[in-house]
Amino acid sequence: MEHKRIRGGTFEEKFWKHVNKSGSKILDTPCWEWSQPRSFGGYGIFSVNGKAKSAHRISWRMANGDPGKFHVLHKCDNKICIRPEHLFLGTDWDNVRDRVAKGRTAQGETHYRAKLTNAQIMSMRAMAKGGATQRKLAAKFDVTQSYVSRVIRGVRRKDILNQSGEES
Ligand SMILES: [Zn+2]
Repeated sequence: MEHKRIRGGTFEEKFWKHVNKSGSKILDTPCWEWSQPRSFGGYGIFSVNGKAKSAHRISWRMANGDPGKFHVLHKCDNKICIRPEHLFLGTDWDNVRDRVAKGRTAQGETHYRAKLTNAQIMSMRAMAKGGATQRKLAAKFDVTQSYVSRVIRGVRRKDILNQSGEES
């Protein structure tokens, strides 16, 4: 029996044509980056039955099943990354908090007088685990290399050592 094929290949073949698995040159992380097209917000998008869908959400779905009402968020803070290991599920509230913490809204965590937000600390640690160098991380987060080193070793900001986003 012949497999039913849609023009230009199967859904998965078409999807993976947009993906570059050689890692992020800018972030120095082993991300799987989406080429084009992108949404206005900077996320990778893929057309499904004529509707633009988030590429990273589709990737999560293929790897783990339907995320349902949950948002699919990035550990690596790389909007065009679709690598399942770099994604995690969050609620509406996590999504808002994540965006606020990453400085994508007008507000920040300035009242904490923290050098970096909790989400930035978490993504810095995730990127370090993923192989990003301290020099790259220092440049990305605009802090000194020694500060990066202390954050990664957990000398600084011990309050957020896990990735659950729980604040002490
Ligand atoms: Zn990534």
